[in-house]
Amino acid sequence: MVLLGIESTAHTASVGIVTERAEVLSLATDMFKPLHGGIHPREAANHHVEVLPGLVAKALDDAHIRPSELDAVAFAQGPGLGPCLRAGATVARMLALTWNKPLVPVNHCVAHVEIARVLSGIDDPMLLYASGGNTQVVAYGSGRYRVLGETLDVGIGNFLDKLWISMGGTFPGGPAIEAEALRGSELLSLPYSVHGMDVAFSGMLTATLALRAKGAGKPDLAFSVENTAYSMLTEITERALAHRRRTDVVLGGGVACNERLRGMVRAMAEGRGGTSFAPPKSLCVDNGAMIAWTGHLALGAGLSVPVERSAVQPRQRTDLVPTPWR
Ligand code: AMP
Ligand code: MG
Repeated sequence: MVLLGIESTAHTASVGIVTERAEVLSLATDMFKPLHGGIHPREAANHHVEVLPGLVAKALDDAHIRPSELDAVAFAQGPGLGPCLRAGATVARMLALTWNKPLVPVNHCVAHVEIARVLSGIDDPMLLYASGGNTQVVAYGSGRYRVLGETLDVGIGNFLDKLWISMGGTFPGGPAIEAEALRGSELLSLPYSVHGMDVAFSGMLTATLALRAKGAGKPDLAFSVENTAYSMLTEITERALAHRRRTDVVLGGGVACNERLRGMVRAMAEGRGGTSFAPPKSLCVDNGAMIAWTGHLALGAGLSVPVERSAVQPRQRTDLVPTPWR
């Protein structure tokens, strides 16, 4: 079996082609990068509409797959930005109708877990999902993926981007802050906001910009932000592991590309006698391959839908999505 998957929940348009053994035959991705400030949903959606046809052609070409050889078309149904989701869903419906293939809706957060699960071989992990818009700790329980902890305000990636742009940088801020932090050494005191298994970042944003205004250097600020924010994420992941009696962690989301975060989570998991796994960076960030792979699981469990029942769900909740393959 071979599936084509389309991702378009936020700034990334991506098409992946994946086999039933989770081999990624091709992955074609194009990220919308705003010239100023953050993402405007309409502008990002226009970008996706422009690039998706070319990405579909490239993915088929690179995989040496003809449309007739595909078993289904999967797409990210939610959660995400409405206009962006609709761009991807429209392309997916059109392809499914044209090629006469089943159409399979996939939850974006579940897809981050499933791609990490299959690549790691860890059967029942805790997922730390740290991306632009999402920051969640997720585990499977009683028939659904459950969100055990999450951000109470912005996603960690949006926090890093906003901080970096406010200090004069450009999007994306996370990788730039990672590079800057390597030159820092002094740990400045910043708000450490952990509330049970939840976190919050807006206080740290205000405090960091205040220190910057008083003359603190970017390297030390980046070093302090990374250590504080990633300690918070590591702490809520550890608490979730302890409560759910799990030992192993998988990472997902763009911020999971960060080496310091990977190292901190690994040290925590190994300290508890477990392991941690982060997918290769191209499969950590938003990507069509994870949608195609989760489409395999969903199709195998009979979860395809007719076009008229394929509406996108911008606020789709992870814990309301059926996962009968588990
Ligand atoms: P996503 O929403 O999953 O596509 O991820 C995008 C987010 O990941 C953006 O907010 C980026 O700033 C962030 N990001 C990407 N690479 C890194 C990195 N190496 N360290 C920290 N954040 C990162
Ligand atoms: Mg994501």
